[in-house]
Amino acid sequence: MARLNEHYDKLVAGYLFPEINKRVRAFAEKYPGRKLYRLGIGNTTEPIPPSIIRGLEKAVNDLAFRETYTGYGDELGEKPLRESIAQIYRERGVILELDEIFVSDGAKPDIGNIQSIFALDNRIAVQDPTYPVYVDTNVIAGRTGGYNKEESKYDGIVYMKCTVENDFFAPPPNEHVDILYLCSPNNPTGAVATREQLSNFISYALEHKAVIIFDAAYSAFIRDPQYPHSIYELENARACAIEINSFSKIAGFTGVRLGWTVVPKTLVLEDGVVGKANALWQRRQTTFFNGASIIAQKGGVAALTGEGRRECALLADYYLENASIIKRSLERKGLSVYGGTNAPYLWVKTPGSISSWDFFEKLLNESSVVVTPGVGFGPSGEGFVRFSAFGHREDILEAVESIEKNLKL
Ligand SMILES: *Cc1c(COP(=O)(O)O)cnc(C)c1O
Repeated sequence: MARLNEHYDKLVAGYLFPEINKRVRAFAEKYPGRKLYRLGIGNTTEPIPPSIIRGLEKAVNDLAFRETYTGYGDELGEKPLRESIAQIYRERGVILELDEIFVSDGAKPDIGNIQSIFALDNRIAVQDPTYPVYVDTNVIAGRTGGYNKEESKYDGIVYMKCTVENDFFAPPPNEHVDILYLCSPNNPTGAVATREQLSNFISYALEHKAVIIFDAAYSAFIRDPQYPHSIYELENARACAIEINSFSKIAGFTGVRLGWTVVPKTLVLEDGVVGKANALWQRRQTTFFNGASIIAQKGGVAALTGEGRRECALLADYYLENASIIKRSLERKGLSVYGGTNAPYLWVKTPGSISSWDFFEKLLNESSVVVTPGVGFGPSGEGFVRFSAFGHREDILEAVESIEKNLKL
């Protein structure tokens, strides 16, 4: 008799977005014809820049002729793309070997898959609040206990509480863990780790022979030069960190699908065999994955040329300007707003002591604006909501106007 993986039954997330949709549908039925402003989703809205589109078009065209057609490529990624990625790191003083860079169909699949090279009894720590994929993929793998309703936490996971007091970037835990997930700039708080904060995590990881899984999906939004874009800009990170990145938010590739993961050969783990983690990830990818789309990869090369990078920077600037418009407007209403200056997300304290869901309802009912309740990203997200700056400028302007006019605070 085939049995299903019972760990799936422990999952409670997946509740968040369906619940938002349910409430939005109820609202639409109650007030038919009222325009809704969706500032809740983390999805890109602006078109892929022209030079990158040309790269994608050429890749499609190459497939039309015998002379230029290619079938399966290198499972770890086409060399020109890995060279372009290595070049981006080199400009930040980070020297990587090409076989430390693994091209993929996106950061989320890599985040989900990377845990499979680690033992099931490893203890994990996550930022609280954070992107739910780190937790859920470990729940499915069986690396946690059940969901504890009272605490809104999974047993067996260490939650690093991110609060106003620690600038939404908690210090390393006081207890032993083996794997730490860090996201900077963070989704949902928009907080960015300083060099000092990352250094503290690196020291912790070296002391505990732990591994940091560093999600840099929003690094293209960092404008303040004091913040590192890659964890490898810090000393000794190559001994303890795996870094995951994506073209989704950089180049609008959310629907095209392209990302990469760096697994340094110098990673030091409990087993002590140098290069073993890199070899296992290579084995995992060559067994379960047959390489990212050649079209997407050639688009990725175009995105990393001088012209592509200038266009991508303008794209990020557009979303950052949206963030700044939202931030100014909410502050005029007297709300406390965090993030949004080096990230496309704003983390907004609910007024008084009302809950995330109550403020969600208030914003929806009074101003027709949809946000994401912070509590959906972890227990410490209670009392906050996330505003996303991904959207067309005209919609953002209408949304903030509606908030300024209609939200009663
Ligand atoms: C959007 C996002 C990603 C990117 O995922 P892709 O699969 O590359 O589209 C990764 N991490 C975080 C935190 C994100 O919000």
